[in-house]
Amino acid sequence: RYRDYIAWLQQRDTKADEVYWREQLAKLDGSTWLANALLREESYQQESGYGEHRVTLDAMLTQRLEQLAREERVTVNTVIQAAWALMLQRYTGQRAVVFGATVSGRPTDLVGSQQLLGLFINTLPVVLAPRAEQTVGDWLREVQAQGLSMREHEHTPLNEIQRWAGAGGRGLFDTLVVYENYPVDAAFKEAAPAGLKFGEIANREETNYPLTLAVSQAATIDMRYGFATEAFDEGAIGQIASQMTRLLEAFAQHRDMRIGNAALPVGDEVTGLLSWGVGTKGYDDIGLVHQRIAREAQAHPERVAVVYGETQLSYGELDAQANRLAQRLAKLGVGPEMRVGIAVERSVEMVVGLLAILKAGGAYVPLDPEYPRERLAYMLEDSGVALLLTQSWVRERLPVAEGVTLLELDVVDVSAEPAVAPQISVHGGNLAYVIYTSGSTGRPKGAANRHSALSNRLAWMQSAYVLEETDVVLQKTPFSFDVSVWEFFWPLMTGARLAVAEPGAHRDPQRLVELIGEYGVTTLHFVPSMLQAFAAHEGVKTCRKLKRIVCSGEALPADLANRTLEQLPGVGLYNLYGPTEAAIDVTHWTCRTGDEVVPIGRPIGNVSTHVLDAQMNLVPRGVAGELYLGGVGLARGYLNRATLTAERFVPDPFDANGGRLYRTGDLARWTNEGALEYLGRIDHQVKVRGLRIELGEIEAQLVAQAGVREAVVTAQEGPGGTRLIAYVTAHPDHTVEQQALREALLRQLPDYMVPSAIMVLEALPLNPNGKVDRKALPAPEYQTRSYEAPQGETEEALAQIWSEVLGIDIEQVSRTDNFFELGGDSILAIKLVSRIRKTHGIELPLQDVFKHPLLADLAPAMTKAEHIEPARPGSAIVRRTGGDGSAPLSHAQERLWFLWRLDRNSPAYNTAGAIRLQGELDTSKVRRTLAVIHARHQVLHSRFEENGEGVRQQVANVPFSWSEPDLSQE
Ligand code: AMP
Ligand code: MG
Repeated sequence: RYRDYIAWLQQRDTKADEVYWREQLAKLDGSTWLANALLREESYQQESGYGEHRVTLDAMLTQRLEQLAREERVTVNTVIQAAWALMLQRYTGQRAVVFGATVSGRPTDLVGSQQLLGLFINTLPVVLAPRAEQTVGDWLREVQAQGLSMREHEHTPLNEIQRWAGAGGRGLFDTLVVYENYPVDAAFKEAAPAGLKFGEIANREETNYPLTLAVSQAATIDMRYGFATEAFDEGAIGQIASQMTRLLEAFAQHRDMRIGNAALPVGDEVTGLLSWGVGTKGYDDIGLVHQRIAREAQAHPERVAVVYGETQLSYGELDAQANRLAQRLAKLGVGPEMRVGIAVERSVEMVVGLLAILKAGGAYVPLDPEYPRERLAYMLEDSGVALLLTQSWVRERLPVAEGVTLLELDVVDVSAEPAVAPQISVHGGNLAYVIYTSGSTGRPKGAANRHSALSNRLAWMQSAYVLEETDVVLQKTPFSFDVSVWEFFWPLMTGARLAVAEPGAHRDPQRLVELIGEYGVTTLHFVPSMLQAFAAHEGVKTCRKLKRIVCSGEALPADLANRTLEQLPGVGLYNLYGPTEAAIDVTHWTCRTGDEVVPIGRPIGNVSTHVLDAQMNLVPRGVAGELYLGGVGLARGYLNRATLTAERFVPDPFDANGGRLYRTGDLARWTNEGALEYLGRIDHQVKVRGLRIELGEIEAQLVAQAGVREAVVTAQEGPGGTRLIAYVTAHPDHTVEQQALREALLRQLPDYMVPSAIMVLEALPLNPNGKVDRKALPAPEYQTRSYEAPQGETEEALAQIWSEVLGIDIEQVSRTDNFFELGGDSILAIKLVSRIRKTHGIELPLQDVFKHPLLADLAPAMTKAEHIEPARPGSAIVRRTGGDGSAPLSHAQERLWFLWRLDRNSPAYNTAGAIRLQGELDTSKVRRTLAVIHARHQVLHSRFEENGEGVRQQVANVPFSWSEPDLSQE
């Protein structure tokens, strides 16, 4: 008989097995390991061991399940497997799931196989993909049918299947369902003579799987969950077991129920989750942001509101200036719901401009003048801006369509306007601002935020962190990102001080340390990757006035949080989370020393947060699901994008009043203490240094270029943090060049969205489903490039500088290397240029780094670049200086000086204006006024001086002089 069996085995069509199993495996697209999906906290990490949790279904439920099976013509085993697959799907969030099942292994088509001695048991993967719309009956029959089809292939060795799965030595699944056809356990027990005890059969063989569900059926169904304690803890298994029982109950009771509606948490669990997810109510009479600021101005007009360099504005001055400008805006037609563009560099004018737009009832649309013209043009058009506030020196860069009125804030004279706020009725439902974020279809989209959402967010922040009169908040986030919104308005609406950093300062830890000292900053924001750089700076310890560091924008690593708390004892470190679509932030967490993970915490006031599965059911505690947001924080939607708005802002199933929820696309889960933990994205949105990027937008821009057939962009970890790598293929008979593509992208996208490497491939790797297999994309080229030593003095010196700037070994820098492929980005390029300036006194234009990213190409450019000559008096903004009257240059000044170096005849940054004065002119008053200004502002008599080490600014003792030419005859 045994020989018959061997012969039978050898005759089998193993090709058909392979086809069958490969088909099964192709359904999977992610890990369905239950242990990975479950919350694991340090306290769970017990010694390895084995635990068991036992549940007996009562006779009543057992009978109902048997009846269900009979009527649906399936086995009870099928019912158990069907429920288990659904559990796994809910826990792992995957479409298709896999678990192991033991099969008897006795070939039914072999005559006499029942008489064979020996253990034939085989363990096979069961791959199932429950669909939400299937009824329980449909689903059971599908599982049964699949079990039957598997029969024919059940002799395939598991290791063979694992090999096809490409899982290497790793298991395909971590849970095993064993259904004991013959309840050995019970039989033994019944037959056992008194005093004789049999061990538990089911655990005998299966202990090498983290979780084994052994089911045996007699008068009652007995379910034993045997688990490895290093993978699961008792509590988690208890939760799973009771959910499994409830699922079976639901199956028995509601056969016509769609399986998508079978929620795992019920009763108390639901109440608990919902109560975690709802922020406290409060802040009743908050009023709108600009009204709050006006109230502060009235209460203490003399107090300093804004500082920028040496300029200071008191609350009274700020309010009056903004009122006058608002009056003018109102005359130009601004009112509620009107979008007003503002494209200015960071300055006092920026603050006044933003406030004035709100005072006039309008909604502001920030436009970063550094963005490429085409992007600005698109944003201007899309937002329907009819009025654009700007500065005279920025205006040139703006693509202004006909019919758009421009107002240059540095030139416009509003002194004749009344200093009171225009009488305009704005309410909480009106728009406050529109901020554009990357859009996956190739164009940015504007999130339209309401006043009520903004004032709620700010009122929460004040109640949580309580700014006082003595607090100073640094404004350093570019105003096209919504973090800037609280930086501007929180201090002003609470009577604290707003310190405005000069443009560019936010990237430079050294400068930040200086600014914190100069302004006495107590409160500031960092995206974690910038906090990393800041915390690593030696000057951090000197920031003694710091009280609060607010983080947001990307995941805050626990070690960084701990290091920061250690370096700055007494400083509060907060992790805030929220998308632009929900008024800046919606959850908050106060970091604690020693945390292993930094959660994103709990909802802020009047906001709700729910973790839901694909059918919008609540998922159990500890389980990953998509984070949905509700409450007053939500944006009205995307400007001019009704379809996209309807897709992302959906009806709230938990709100009887017809509210909406915003689908964030973020994966999160509830911890045992009721805080949310951030787990990643479920789509192709990424963050690079906290900046939000849809990979699809870059891909769309690449595909739009001539010759490009397909494009895929990925975010990968590189030496300098996350970086973007693009992969493109060309149309037949076309060639595409990486350099040309890079330049094309720089004309369309902000520089942080331009990939650091663009690889041209013959074809994109595809997975069995025909989709691009992102995991199979090659590593960026430099890793495969052969090393060539730098040649000559310049190349060697450049290699040295590269290795310093990029933080890599000099031996790794080859003359064929590409700066961006080694992890360089636009910020590191700036560093590179300034390092070259410092060490070699050579002014390499920044553009050259982009034009010649290869070391061997950049070296000649460096040779050609200008040597810095002794100084000639220049002019720029100067900070108040120390004793000897000399000071280093600010970044903005370096830029001015840099541009002047490039082209000395360029009038860029020279601003001329003429003012017609009418009436009697008191010339002596004018003269005295100018003399006072001259004395007070060192910048008016300072110059840049170059020496061997670099440039400094030097205050010159130039007396004020005045002449009055007589022009009356002209
Ligand atoms: P943004 O609209 O620029 O504020 O980006 C919002 C996205 O940034 C969120 O959907 C998250 O993916 C991510 N994000 C924001 N804050 C955090 C945080 N504290 N931890 C992890 N991710 C965050
Ligand atoms: Mg945010």
